[in-house]
Amino acid sequence: MADIIHLLPDHVANQIAAGEVVQRPASVVKELLENSIDAGSSEIILLIKNAGKTLIQVIDNGKGMSETDARLSFERHATSKIKAADDLFCLNTKGFRGEALASIAAIAHVELKTKQESEDLGTSITIEGSSITAQDTVATSKGTSIAVKNLFFNIPARRNFLKSDAVELRHIIDEFHRVVLAHPRINFSMYHNGNNLFDLRSENFRQRIVHTFGKKTNEKLVPVDEETELLNISGFVGKPEYAKKSRGEQFFFVNQRFIKSPYLNHSIQAAFEGLLPPNKFPSYFLNLTVDPKSIDINIHPTKTEIKFDDEPTIYALLRAAVKHSLGQFSVAPILDFQRDAALDTPYQQQNDQVSLPKVEVNPDFNPFSKPKSSSSSSSSPAWEGLYTGLQSDTSASSNDFSEVQFESDELQSSIFDKDEGKRVQNTFQLQNKYIISTIKSGMVVIDQNRAHERILYEDFLTQITINDTVGQQLMFPLTLEFSTKDLEVLQSLKEQLEHSGFVFENFGDQQTTISAIPAALKDSDVKKVFLQLIDDVHNEVPDFNFSSSDLLAKTFAKSLAIKNGKKLNITEQEFIVNALFACKEPALSLSNKAIFTTIEITELESKFN
Ligand code: ADP
Ligand code: MG
Repeated sequence: MADIIHLLPDHVANQIAAGEVVQRPASVVKELLENSIDAGSSEIILLIKNAGKTLIQVIDNGKGMSETDARLSFERHATSKIKAADDLFCLNTKGFRGEALASIAAIAHVELKTKQESEDLGTSITIEGSSITAQDTVATSKGTSIAVKNLFFNIPARRNFLKSDAVELRHIIDEFHRVVLAHPRINFSMYHNGNNLFDLRSENFRQRIVHTFGKKTNEKLVPVDEETELLNISGFVGKPEYAKKSRGEQFFFVNQRFIKSPYLNHSIQAAFEGLLPPNKFPSYFLNLTVDPKSIDINIHPTKTEIKFDDEPTIYALLRAAVKHSLGQFSVAPILDFQRDAALDTPYQQQNDQVSLPKVEVNPDFNPFSKPKSSSSSSSSPAWEGLYTGLQSDTSASSNDFSEVQFESDELQSSIFDKDEGKRVQNTFQLQNKYIISTIKSGMVVIDQNRAHERILYEDFLTQITINDTVGQQLMFPLTLEFSTKDLEVLQSLKEQLEHSGFVFENFGDQQTTISAIPAALKDSDVKKVFLQLIDDVHNEVPDFNFSSSDLLAKTFAKSLAIKNGKKLNITEQEFIVNALFACKEPALSLSNKAIFTTIEITELESKFN
């Protein structure tokens, strides 16, 4: 009998593959946007007509393609992103299967225009159902534009299967959300039938969430931030009271890739246990960063499902991190700092048969039951009122702590005696790491390093953005050497650096000469600070359009803050305490962790019962 097995022609194979990769217009949007990101674009424009049924076009300013690559890009298994199977386990790109463009070209009319920066002219290619119908040399700007028209023109069954424009557009916007949230530093805009639906400029993650979902989102967000050996978790969860009836705003990004994971979703749901009414779903926007080697992305054609090496541990870490954040940010406001101190004296308890003091931090805190204390409903942050003196004089500069009144009147007069030896101590240092200080309702334990970072950061930020600081003139100008690339980074920050007190004499060949530096800096620290800055710029911001002042202030603060392990004398301890509570945001460290925690007298008392 004759052999009956034969290889399918390419265009048939492509159509079959397309069935997996391209379910609807939104799938095309996803693939094209991801290709633009992989091409290193800083600006991406999405144009849609009739919910993608007539046109889906993505224009980017990325690296473009050569003429040969432009043709090859539509071949199946043609990719520039991996070379060997091993590469699958250290992926830095969205794509790697090399089948998106081939699939799309098999089921639509595609027009590609692309040009590399180094070239004068670019290439245009038109493809209809896998065959190239035209190719030209064209004048076009750097980057790539791909227009996909008449999707499923050759598969009527699929075309008829498409839903109404409203539904398909909804899917497109969902994909758009996933991509723009994963890449807040990239500019994205989106148009539907000529109307501008989104215009997002490079920003941080929180801003991107707010600009994507609307201003009101801001107040709903609770930061989550956890660094562990296995993974880093950062991002936000929605406050329980804003939970929704639908699963709308739930986003996991693993190494900047949106993924669906019912299992991990469950861990978030578990963290919210007891805080949500039935049938309500919390929002979350969480970035998980893991070693690419510890995940497998190649288990599904659309790459939205991945396999983790150690899923149960990730589940537990995620749940703990979210629980912790919810505790820290939702429970903290019910700490009652305004309570009448007289009621807290132990003598009363001896005389009266009073019931056991209630622990104020209630682990079963439920935001739906009305909070009892007045302070919890007021908008003033929990830390206000810790130090009575500071409320009346918020302008107290960080060095000037003579304004501060501690809660104990007798101690107050002697606190600021010149003679350290005789001073009554209101602060203590624990393990050269924590500063402990008394407050009205108990005590506060402060992480000295995080506190000092916060103080320096706010100080620097004001200096950089508001005042022009006069630096200290150096006796001998300082010449520092850097690589050309690093020097470029410094040069791009020259203006902000000069606001903060630096004076640059020149930027030469791999070196720069500085004649003045901020007063807070020692000249021996300058190189260290600059290197840290360059590092931060590389790590945090892939493109130019970011708040460099913020970064600068953070870097200064990080490199100059006292470290944990340093012994502090009483004056230093008090300085930290007072300057911290004069900060705008004393509770949160620069990486969104707690700077201090309070221990209520009632909590202590309950331990002695
Ligand atoms: P993959 O993304 O998996 O590599 P695709 O079929 O999506 O496969 O794309 C094939 C190749 O075409 C990519 O590897 C890339 O080299 C090139 N390419 C696609 N889109 C762009 C773009 N917008 N800019 C530059 N190159 C692109
Ligand atoms: Mg791709």
